[in-house]
Amino acid sequence: MDNCLFCKMVAGDIPADVVYENDDVLAFRDINPQAPVHILIIPKKHVATLNDVVEEDAMLMGKLFLAAKEIAEAEGVADEGYRTVVNCGASAGQSVFHVHMHVLAGRPLQWPPG
Ligand code: 5GP
Ligand code: ZN
Repeated sequence: MDNCLFCKMVAGDIPADVVYENDDVLAFRDINPQAPVHILIIPKKHVATLNDVVEEDAMLMGKLFLAAKEIAEAEGVADEGYRTVVNCGASAGQSVFHVHMHVLAGRPLQWPPG
């Protein structure tokens, strides 16, 4: 999609520190990390928010979780624990409108989040 930051990363037009990729998803380090491990996992297909996910995306969205598991293992945090977060909409703090899963780890994480 034109004018979407994350679509431009999928296209290779904007550089990304990629840690994981397959036919369906791309994962890269967050430019403003909130924890020692802070990775974003995105579907290569443009979907703006969780509100825009449809039934045919079910498998694709599941692949974000499978990628999270693989990444946690590769980053060495699978056993100590990690958090996955999908912000949906402005009040939740979504700032990039291409759906993405945050993977956060490497420090104690507070609950509930702010
Ligand atoms: P949101 O706030 O939408 O849930 O998360 C968007 C995330 O994208 C933020 O954590 C922000 O730091 C990250 N981000 C924004 N611009 C860029 C960029 O150009 N490169 C990378 N790697 N991350 C970005
Ligand atoms: Zn996009």
